[in-house]
Amino acid sequence: MNRMSFFIKLRKLFLHASPRKRALVFTMGIVILAAVGIGIGSQMMSKRAESGNDYLNNNNNNSVGGRENLDEPSNIDKSRPKEVIVVIDPGHGGEDLGAYNGTFYEKDINLDISLKLGELLEELGVKVVYTRKTDVFIDLDPRVDLANRLDATLFISVHSNSMPDNSDYRGTETLYCPPVNPKYSKMDGKKLATIVQKELISALGTVDNGIIERPNLAVLRKTVMPAVIAEIAYISSPSDRAKLKDTAFRQKAAQALADAVMKALDEMGAVKDENGGYTIIED
Ligand SMILES: [Zn+2]
Repeated sequence: MNRMSFFIKLRKLFLHASPRKRALVFTMGIVILAAVGIGIGSQMMSKRAESGNDYLNNNNNNSVGGRENLDEPSNIDKSRPKEVIVVIDPGHGGEDLGAYNGTFYEKDINLDISLKLGELLEELGVKVVYTRKTDVFIDLDPRVDLANRLDATLFISVHSNSMPDNSDYRGTETLYCPPVNPKYSKMDGKKLATIVQKELISALGTVDNGIIERPNLAVLRKTVMPAVIAEIAYISSPSDRAKLKDTAFRQKAAQALADAVMKALDEMGAVKDENGGYTIIED
């Protein structure tokens, strides 16, 4: 029996049945469809929960409420050295272009410098995790959650600035949030910002706009580890923009950030272990 004639027979049977039988068959059909639907749904849910290797899909965040009232996981033995992890956060992405000039988008500069930075750090043996490695949109909280969940050592967010009303304004600045509960006695956002800013200015020769306290930026306020946003240069300034378009300049920026990370890790007492990776003891 081919499929068509089977359904035609089924339809005939259905049409010739009594109204009660028809109602019964109809109800059973609905019940079966619902059961199959629930089955597929729960299978999809468990599949999603399994895909934890994509760090950002896993949403068991411990960052809601901000830097102020974060509970530290109690099962971490602080006296034992833990692996150093640097989270690199290329600002914006996907439909969020960031600042732009024509088709020159901040999101692309940020990603390029970030990938270069990560490569340099990995060459040195530092474990790097990116909040994004491609041109995708990632909200701010998942970026924070990722870093906090990994118990990352440092959080480096890479951005480029813009002042559309004043194209003369240019230069480099590093943003930080005043720490409330510093995780490390030897390093906090402000100290890290100072190191990052110094390295960037000496490597890039851009105008030094200094370090700037920004208490209300989510990725700085909600991350529990020392965190900064490096604003490399101004897209809105023609001279800065020309620099940002230059691959060698972006490589220099990445190198400066890598140097800053290594200086900060050194100040925090991180050490290279026998496997060539870095470990640190939380205090
Ligand atoms: Zn930005």
